[in-house]
Amino acid sequence: MRRAKINKIIKFSNVDGPGNRMSIFFQGCNYNCLYCHNPETINMCNSCGTCVGSCPVGALSIVDSKVCWDKKLCVECDRCTNICLIDSSPKTMDYSVEELLKEIKKVSGFIRGITVSGGEATLNYEFITELFKEVKKLGLTTFVDTNGSLDLREDIYSEFIKVTDNFMVDMKVWSEKKHKDLTGVDNLSVKKNIEFLGELGKLYEVRTVVVPEFLDNLETVTEVSKLIGSINSKNQLDERIIYKLIKYRQIGVKKENLEGKLLDLTSPADEIMEKLSKVAKENGVQKVIII
Ligand code: SF4
Ligand code: SF4
Repeated sequence: MRRAKINKIIKFSNVDGPGNRMSIFFQGCNYNCLYCHNPETINMCNSCGTCVGSCPVGALSIVDSKVCWDKKLCVECDRCTNICLIDSSPKTMDYSVEELLKEIKKVSGFIRGITVSGGEATLNYEFITELFKEVKKLGLTTFVDTNGSLDLREDIYSEFIKVTDNFMVDMKVWSEKKHKDLTGVDNLSVKKNIEFLGELGKLYEVRTVVVPEFLDNLETVTEVSKLIGSINSKNQLDERIIYKLIKYRQIGVKKENLEGKLLDLTSPADEIMEKLSKVAKENGVQKVIII
């Protein structure tokens, strides 16, 4: 039976796709972004036990060499995730498709769909494919929030794409070098995936975090919006693809990345965001959202 590590489930979210949605955050990511605001989702816990003694309410213990988390006792103080040296969390939950479906069924009457996120959800594409097949039987829509790093044009992902209604893809920075500096990985697949999913009519949204001084935001927004604009004109889906421009915020960013001054920056001013939004609209993106 296929299983997956889940970091968090938000039963009702209205920021992860259209309508009220259940958002499921998978543990594990293949990027290591300097500005990651939930770094505890990056790696899998190795049960080293370092965090156990830090819990003020005894919600953590070691049983059979594995770290165990008592959700009922936990007061969400985040001491354990802050002390972890490998960007992980002892608070993950291990689910089978059937178990997760049971959770979804509890709220299915109140939501429009499911969005999977992370970490990097697509690393669990086989699990998600099985899950989405069942979710669709409930009449719910299926969305994937991804960093776009896996080449989704490959045959192995065809079934996964078939059962996914729409994707939301991060385009963090256009320059390949800067993308590697920021995430540890180049962005060639991201660009290809945006084109590929756009042409399939399965690209709901592209997202860019605007980091003043550190990233060339103007270049990224110009190139991404040109790409969205060209997909729109080919597919005549000009009202469909959203470009979300997200203000960089320091919340959750790892201390060492702030202390290294690399990202010890303030959020971009409203005027910067408006200017970038104008550029995106001039390049053919009709729906630009600033958050
Ligand atoms: S969460 Fe981190 S510190 Fe805690 S047991 Fe797992 S690897 Fe060790
Ligand atoms: S977040 Fe929960 S498990 Fe972690 S240290 Fe705080 S109370 Fe304990």
